[in-house]
Amino acid sequence: MLFQPPLPPVYGSLDASQLSARIAERKRQLGKRLVILGHHYQQDEVIAFADFTGDSLKLSQLAAAQKDAEFVVFCGVHFMAESADILTDERVVVVLPDLAAGCSMADMAAIEQLEDAWSQIADVVREPVVPITYVNSSAAVKAFCGGHDGACCTSSNARTVLEWALNGRTPDAPGDRRKVMFLPDQHLGRNTANALGWPLDSMVVWDPREELGGLTPEQICAATFILWKGHCSVHQLFTAKQADAIRAASPGTKILVHPECDWSVVQKADLVGSTEFIIKTLEAAPAGSKWAVGTEVHLVNRLANRFRGEKDIRLLSSIQCLCTTMYRIDLKHLCWVLDNLVEGRVVNQIRVDPETRRLARIALDRMLWLKAQPLVPVTCVD
Ligand code: SF4
Repeated sequence: MLFQPPLPPVYGSLDASQLSARIAERKRQLGKRLVILGHHYQQDEVIAFADFTGDSLKLSQLAAAQKDAEFVVFCGVHFMAESADILTDERVVVVLPDLAAGCSMADMAAIEQLEDAWSQIADVVREPVVPITYVNSSAAVKAFCGGHDGACCTSSNARTVLEWALNGRTPDAPGDRRKVMFLPDQHLGRNTANALGWPLDSMVVWDPREELGGLTPEQICAATFILWKGHCSVHQLFTAKQADAIRAASPGTKILVHPECDWSVVQKADLVGSTEFIIKTLEAAPAGSKWAVGTEVHLVNRLANRFRGEKDIRLLSSIQCLCTTMYRIDLKHLCWVLDNLVEGRVVNQIRVDPETRRLARIALDRMLWLKAQPLVPVTCVD
């Protein structure tokens, strides 16, 4: 996590309505030079100023599509701002309002750990290992994957990317026995591979704090998937027990969860998908339907309020599952970065160095290319 210096005291003396008025004025002053992006998990008072809302990938693509924008203020977390910097023109300045808005999952896979793991695995296995990283990872990890014939994936196209990485290998047809290293989220890796028909015993979990990942050479050789021991601190709060309790207390309630949830939760769910999928599913749901949703609380509450009286939408957990790092982006920090931009100063710019950017772009471009592909084995992407 990066260090965010304290804001000047004036920002602590302004209340929410004063901050909102000042942000609105700054937006007006900057006009088309500014685009504010708001991730779905942001708090409502920040989302109110977003020109676009979406998941991390959609927002980065939208940022790249803004031809007039000089400044992209990304109300999300650090890895998202890095992706926006990689995907936008070099002239575009990407700003993260609070540098301490990191992602606990991305922080679980440091590039040094990945390089160390890669060399240890290379000493043990002979077949090709394809590194696949979820977009919720640092630019350095993305660059590693891009530079080692791997790719990024999102929660919506992880299935297509895994099929591509396996190059035709299926549970019933061993193919050329290639392996996949999936990071940093073991749950997305496990849930996706299992949905493709791979049994749980075809997967091992690599603990970067242990020698040889805490595994034996035999376990690594026998596995098809090496899953990095990482997780989302928000989605791990959902449990299978909560799903059972809701089914017992409220028959007919559909359970809809994000694939960052534990495998046992996913097994209890009626539907599993990305934040965009969750939103579309609830938008299309019939009036009178009941839903328990396993994802970040701000998004679930926003959807519950939007459809109040028409559809019954609630959080799967009875405790508030909040992304605390995303929550660091507030009106004060947004106001502070916009005040500075209006005065001709850039604060909190997120800039990825050229070589990391080049290699990470390879991994991201593969992800974008694969997103549009049908679910069939792909033999060559270069
Ligand atoms: S919800 Fe989880 S994966 Fe998403 S930014 Fe927060 S900690 Fe990271």
